[in-house]
Amino acid sequence: MEKIKMTTPLVEMDGDEMTRILWQDIKDILLTPYIDLKTEYYDLGLPEREKTKDQVTVDSAEATKKYGVAVKCATITPNAQRVEEYKLSQMWKSPNGTIRAILDGTVFRAPIMVEGISPVVKNWKKPIVIARHAFGDVYRATEQRVTAPGKAELVFTAADGTETRQTICDFDGPGVLQGQFNKDASIRSFAHACFRFALDAGQDLWFSTKDTISKQYDHTFKDIFQEIYDSEYKTAFEAKGIEYFYTLIDDAVARVIRSEGGFIWACKNYDGDVMSDMVSTAFGSLAMMTSVLVSPDGKYEYEAAHGTVTRHYYRYLKGEQTSTNPVATLFAWTGALRKRGELDYLPDLVAFADRLEKATIDTIESGVMTGDLAGLWEGKHKARVVTSREFLTAIAERL
Ligand code: NAP
Ligand code: MG
Repeated sequence: MEKIKMTTPLVEMDGDEMTRILWQDIKDILLTPYIDLKTEYYDLGLPEREKTKDQVTVDSAEATKKYGVAVKCATITPNAQRVEEYKLSQMWKSPNGTIRAILDGTVFRAPIMVEGISPVVKNWKKPIVIARHAFGDVYRATEQRVTAPGKAELVFTAADGTETRQTICDFDGPGVLQGQFNKDASIRSFAHACFRFALDAGQDLWFSTKDTISKQYDHTFKDIFQEIYDSEYKTAFEAKGIEYFYTLIDDAVARVIRSEGGFIWACKNYDGDVMSDMVSTAFGSLAMMTSVLVSPDGKYEYEAAHGTVTRHYYRYLKGEQTSTNPVATLFAWTGALRKRGELDYLPDLVAFADRLEKATIDTIESGVMTGDLAGLWEGKHKARVVTSREFLTAIAERL
């Protein structure tokens, strides 16, 4: 069989621990036998980040800007224990944080649904995609512990020196303070990414904040979304028969639970952080969750939503064949290959990505799966728990 050709390289960001092992196995068993895989390789594994003083992470993000599509393996975000374990010269920042800061943008997370694993919420029939704004708010806040009575003020000094001043609180005793911000430019790109993604997917877009309470902050998000929708997307949404609608986050939560799924739920940074964990858990497992970062200028970075599965890696190092679920990492690859195929007009590559995803889902639905899924399994066939490599090989046979 002739291998499928690619024209533009994918930016390949390798990672750490168990997912690094899965990464190579996926390539060896499911990709390179069928595709003339063209990638520009960046090793984001912690030893290489240490060696390059984290320059490799910056370079990989810059390459994503250049080529437009990247696929990323899970990576360690160092903490004190990792500094010790890997003898690091510094506690390097989260690679995802560095990449997001360079690409900006919105993270879309979607569950991979299979028959035999039902969402905890009985009426959910279709995936719910969470679109999380990945900039500002509490993640870039300035905080202060107040220890004595005193007055806290919100002061803004304009470039021309004029000052506005509002009292936040007259403290009569100890307390806490927090200053958050966001930028119109980032909110606008968040809105564009959501509207474009909804059009691509042909799904309704919901957006929720707490604008009744946060009359300036959250209301700005609501207004910017509405303005951009009315001026740039309304016609296209109507032509596709899809809907944009805004509602209060409390109302959204209630509606989401009662819905049958099949839409995109856009959330501010913190809401998206919390809600994506809730939604993914209710759908089954983090190992069955895809994640893609879409930048305002249309660059894509695909990854799994879970981490490097450290506990399994330590067992692997002792010689054990683990039953770690490779599905989310595999779907990061198929997502990236499909997008590359669409951008470069390579229908064979697009079709390959579709077939590989189908083979994966069919394999699980036939009862062959990794250990994490067996506990959730309610399918017709009896579950047969296999190792990661056996699972990938079973997919290859089906493919
Ligand atoms: P984790 O790697 O997601 O794993 C937590 C636990 O969830 C595992 O021990 C395992 O449970 C289960 N699990 C997760 N993914 C699985 C899979 N594919 N197949 C089977 N089981 C899976 O989270 P963590 O242990 O908190 O973090 C480990 C490292 O990952 C940390 O260094 C962290 O910095 C990094 N991390 C990276 C990213 C990223 O790059 N996007 C995201 C999160 C965390 P059992 O042990 O019970 O089987
Ligand atoms: Mg979270």
